[in-house]
Amino acid sequence: MTALRASLLAWYDANARDLPWRARPGGGAHPDPYRVWLSEVMLQQTTVPHATPYFLKFLSLWPTVSDLAGAADGEVMAAWAGLGYYARARNLMACARAVASGHGGVFPDTEDALRALPGLGPYTAAAVAAIAFDRPANVVDGNVERVMSRLFAVDAPLPDAKPELKRRAAGLVGDHRPGDWAQALMDLGATVCRPKAPLCDRCPVSAHCAAFAQGLPETYPRRTPKALRPHRFGVAYVLTRGEQVALVRRPPKGLLGGMLALPTSAWRAARWSEAEALSAAPAQAPWRPAGEVEHGFTHFTLTLQLLRAEGEAHDVIWSPRRDLDALPSVFLKAAKAGLNSLI
Ligand code: SF4
Repeated sequence: MTALRASLLAWYDANARDLPWRARPGGGAHPDPYRVWLSEVMLQQTTVPHATPYFLKFLSLWPTVSDLAGAADGEVMAAWAGLGYYARARNLMACARAVASGHGGVFPDTEDALRALPGLGPYTAAAVAAIAFDRPANVVDGNVERVMSRLFAVDAPLPDAKPELKRRAAGLVGDHRPGDWAQALMDLGATVCRPKAPLCDRCPVSAHCAAFAQGLPETYPRRTPKALRPHRFGVAYVLTRGEQVALVRRPPKGLLGGMLALPTSAWRAARWSEAEALSAAPAQAPWRPAGEVEHGFTHFTLTLQLLRAEGEAHDVIWSPRRDLDALPSVFLKAAKAGLNSLI
């Protein structure tokens, strides 16, 4: 495995992606743990191009973890809007506050101590330990799982294969440049060993790859068929008062907890009739149907049936239309569709 490691590190030295949270490879410099942690949290379930502007915005608003720890929940949630998975933003705040209050604003430098921070899971602890502190931690994300499944032609399907893929990755971790190793594997998965059409002819480790030798790289990782996600229906109410739109704050726990939202009915398996939709409305108003929008969450898909009206309501937060961009994407989509509909 020494030859495989040497080939991949040499490739990384020449081909590392230039990312704002990184240090250049091979120079012995390590990036700020705050940047590494923030980027890793943002990059879970989203792409580098999508996460990068959010990362830069967070850094300009809160240049250190102590600055982030001192921010109001609402401000952080608003800056996070559009990244999805809002539980992650709440975990981010919990972790920042623990680092600020319990560690003097300095991230601990071992995987175990990082793992003990609230809201910081095993993957992120390993990533920060390796990348920011050059610890030989086993950093396994979806990209690395794919690379392992191909290098070793692992026949067990995901998700059952995860422990084996993690074990295979652990066997490649070494004491020499562990931070660069973790990032090299991530980069290989993201740019060469891609899910579809891997670029095996440009791959620095093709000589060691069992799936390449078989001529079947794309058939790995094996997968069990996905269960269908359930579908739900809800009604979203787009109520305007001149240039203002009625919003509510969602309860702190649960999906999109604590976020600003359009008022909605409950979400259920059956479509809402017009009479049902009217009876669940947040105010008496001349409601009119305004189309519908679809949205996919991790565990279900949603149709929001839209009703639109101009009128008054109590117990709502009136927000200028220009501020709607801070809404979670499902409600931004619904608000735009409702506002564009003819009343
Ligand atoms: Fe992935 Fe192809 Fe490289 Fe194997 S040879 S690791 S399948 S890119």
